[in-house]
Amino acid sequence: MTQAIALYIHVPFCRRKCPYCSFVSYDYREADIPLYLSTLKNELGRRAGGECISSIYFGGGTPSLLPSEHIGDLLSTTSSLFTVNKAAEITIEANPGTISQRYLTAIRQLGVNRLSLGVQSMNNTELRLLGRIHTGEDVREAVRFARGSGFENLSLDLIYGLPGQTLADWQHSLDEVMAMEPEHLSLYALTLETDTPMWQAIKEGSLPDIDPDLSADQYELAEDLLAAHGYRHYEISNWALAGRECRHNQTYWQNWPYLGIGVAAHSYLEGHRLANTKSLDEYLADFSGNSSPAPEMDEKISPELELAETVILGLRLCEGIDMDKMQRRFSLDVLAHYRRQLEAMVAAGLLEQTDRHIKLTRRGRLLSNEVFWRFLPE
Ligand code: SF4
Repeated sequence: MTQAIALYIHVPFCRRKCPYCSFVSYDYREADIPLYLSTLKNELGRRAGGECISSIYFGGGTPSLLPSEHIGDLLSTTSSLFTVNKAAEITIEANPGTISQRYLTAIRQLGVNRLSLGVQSMNNTELRLLGRIHTGEDVREAVRFARGSGFENLSLDLIYGLPGQTLADWQHSLDEVMAMEPEHLSLYALTLETDTPMWQAIKEGSLPDIDPDLSADQYELAEDLLAAHGYRHYEISNWALAGRECRHNQTYWQNWPYLGIGVAAHSYLEGHRLANTKSLDEYLADFSGNSSPAPEMDEKISPELELAETVILGLRLCEGIDMDKMQRRFSLDVLAHYRRQLEAMVAAGLLEQTDRHIKLTRRGRLLSNEVFWRFLPE
C-alpha cells in the first residue's frame, strides 16, 4: 500500500509584518491573493500524482485572509487531483482580528475541521510589543466564533520569553487560555533572527534582552500548569487533550513524506528535501505558465541522514523513539548503532531509556539542541 502523505499549503499574506517575524510573509500584498490562488492551483496540478492525502494544513502568513470561496476552491482542486482520506484532518491557521463567525461557519462547512489561532499573549501590552493587530478581547471573541461555528478541535498558540515578560505575566496568559478550554496548545520560545526589527531594538538597548534562564522557568511552569489541567505534553512545544494531538505535524516528527505547495513551501518526497523559492514574485512567475520550475533547493537524503533525522525528529516527541518501530523501518538496532551518543546523553541526564523507548528527560527538553546535533552523521 502506498504511504499517505500530508499536504501543506503556504499562504504568505499578513495585514502587518510583526517585528519579531522571520516567516515568509508579506504585508501590503493582499491584492495578489486572486493571482496567488490560481498559481497554487497550477502548482497542485503539476505536483499531483494521485497520492493519498492524510491531512491538509493551511499555514502562513495568515491563511484566514483567504476568502472562504478560495479555501473551498483549493479543497475541491485537491480532491480532484488526489485521494483525500475521508477522515483527513484539515487545519487552518487564523489570526484573531481577521475572522468572523460567518467566515468560520463557511470554512467549517467546507470541511475544515481544526482551527489554530495565533493568540501569542493575552496581555495587551505584550501584544502591542509583538506588533499584533488583535487584543485579548479579540481572542475571546474568536474562540466564541470558533465554538459557535462548530469547531470542536481548537488549538491556541502562545509565545514566551518576551523582552520584559515576568513569570507572573506568563502565568496570566496561560491561565486565560486554559479558561477557554482549547483542545490543543502550542507554546513557543521567542527566537529572533538578526534581520528582525525586534532583534535590532534589543541590540540597540531600547528593549531588554531575552533572559534564557527566565524562559526556561516559564517553560517548566507551563509543563506543570498544563499537566494539572489535563493536557498531555506530547511534543517539545505541544500539549493536547487525549486524542487531540495534531496529526499533520506528527507526519513531520515521524519523518514521513509530505508535499508543500506555495511560496517557500518545503516538501519531503521520495528521499528528497525540496523547497520552493521564497520570493513571492518569483513564485507567481514560475508557476503561472506551463513550465515546471526546478525547486530552489533539492537535497537527496542519504540513508544515514534519513536515520539521523528520524531519530532527531522522533526525540521531539515526549514518548521518544520506539526501538521496535525503528528496527522494522531501518532493519537495524538503533541502540547498538548510536551506543556512544546514547550512553553520553544518558550519563548527562538529557536522555533516558524506558522499556523499548528512548526519550528526552525534562532537562533534556530544555537542552534538546545539545542532544540533537550528536546524532548527525560525521
Ligand atoms: S501574523 Fe504571523 S506570519 Fe504574519 S507577520 Fe505576524 S508573526 Fe509573521
